[in-house]
Amino acid sequence: MAPVTLRSVKKSFGQSDVIHGVDIDMTDGEFVVLVGPSGCGKSTLLRMIAGLEPITSGEIDMGGRIVNDLEPKDRDIAMVFQNYALYPHMSVATNMGFSLEHRGASKAEIAERVQWAAEILGLEPLLKRYPRQLSGGQRQRVAMGRAIVRNPQVFLFDEPLSNLDAKLRVDMRGEIKALHQRLKTTTVYVTHDQVEAMTMADKIVVMNAGRVEQIGDPLDVYDAPANRFVAGFIGSPA
Ligand code: ADP
Ligand code: MG
Repeated sequence: MAPVTLRSVKKSFGQSDVIHGVDIDMTDGEFVVLVGPSGCGKSTLLRMIAGLEPITSGEIDMGGRIVNDLEPKDRDIAMVFQNYALYPHMSVATNMGFSLEHRGASKAEIAERVQWAAEILGLEPLLKRYPRQLSGGQRQRVAMGRAIVRNPQVFLFDEPLSNLDAKLRVDMRGEIKALHQRLKTTTVYVTHDQVEAMTMADKIVVMNAGRVEQIGDPLDVYDAPANRFVAGFIGSPA
């Protein structure tokens, strides 16, 4: 667990300014949801926190350490994507243990951590299966298992539920929240779905066109939107 602070974070791709100087404070263990319409810069911001995309200027601070120049593997984060990104030729257990193996953990250590994560996520019966033998919800659970085995300080989710049907999406929201209750890992969760944001967030960050329009407790934002954009997007009563 760690607090995460973004200070004047900007991103340009060539001549195109995509993130215009964003400041966000995330406290230790907080569940923060970045929400906004498609193309507003949510994934870019998340990828910069992950270290998958260099920042153009500003600072990213994790637990008191400026991580701007650190590779993804040297940041204490785990990321869960929309498309799961499971290795098709590896079993569930191997998928879950892969990042540990990659970091030189012993076989015994890997087995113990995979078992721990499988218990938490109810994946024990599926450990020997392959991704093609799993449902969408099960795949998403394996992707979460792969993220938690390392017990990172920060979880990053990029629209993890958007490929699931409506019923499963609602169930998985509950599972992700339950996981957060249990592990209390600082979480940055990206979605374009305002209902998902309102129901999951401790704090929501409403983005539009590369800027932060408002940050706050979801109900406060709903009751007192900062501007027309936020009111319209969140669906606050006029
Ligand atoms: P969101 O996740 O909110 O839908 P993105 O972060 O994916 O938005 O994209 C924000 C903007 O940055 C979009 O206009 C997109 O076209 C642009 N963008 C994203 N990645 C790149 C890239 N690698 N090169 C150029 N433009 C990009
Ligand atoms: Mg995106």
